Amino acid sequence: MIRELEALPKEPSQRLLDAAANSVRRDVSEFLRPRTLLFVVVGYRIEATVDVGLKGTAALSPAPRKAELPRFFYRLSARAQRTYLKGNAIERLDLVVGPAGFSLTAALMGALEFGAPSPVERAAQALVSELCRLLGVRSVRVEVRSVRPRNAVSELHGIFYPRGPGRRAIAATVRGMATAQHPSDPLIVLWMRTAQRHDVVKPKTFLRTLMHELCHYLDYALLKLEDSFHNSGFFKRESFLVRTLYRAEPGA
Ligand SMILES: [Zn+2]
Repeated sequence: MIRELEALPKEPSQRLLDAAANSVRRDVSEFLRPRTLLFVVVGYRIEATVDVGLKGTAALSPAPRKAELPRFFYRLSARAQRTYLKGNAIERLDLVVGPAGFSLTAALMGALEFGAPSPVERAAQALVSELCRLLGVRSVRVEVRSVRPRNAVSELHGIFYPRGPGRRAIAATVRGMATAQHPSDPLIVLWMRTAQRHDVVKPKTFLRTLMHELCHYLDYALLKLEDSFHNSGFFKRESFLVRTLYRAEPGA
């Protein structure tokens, strides 16, 4: 019952995925590039999106350059193709950020300097909650962890669980108290240190990754899409959010 996915990182990040990963058929598609974009799909629904980048690279790479549809599009069901095209046509969100949003963005950038996940998590949660409030959707929980899991070639930047990570995934994680109480709630997980050197990622990189994962959430909660695809419209929405928040940073 696997519809579409990309090659999964084998170790150790796969352990962080839910039980679905155990039964995942592996299928390398054309998305396997410097930025590997992964969907874990079970029962025709995306269970988690896993965002990884090549080891040692600063950030997830930008949107696919080509405007044409990727090859895997033609293997989707008609219903999934409609979802893909609907999301692909939306390039921005109806969002006007006020002073609170800008100061929360600045606070997040500053929190990274502390080097510890907890203050970053609090700041990321506050920003995400404010953006959700402005967009009129329920907030989504954010967990920030320290060093990115990695395998031989790539490292994990973030994961979004549309329907929560499930109990088995929680058992495999270090930080899971709040998640354990609500295992079926949507969840964003981000890592704040690079895999090799354990450097704190650059503030703008972290902000972009956070907005990337938030975009996955908004695809469901706001845009009412059935799945959240990494298509051109998705990356434009991600960039719209980053541009909206970063441009107005104090002193910028
Ligand atoms: Zn993603």
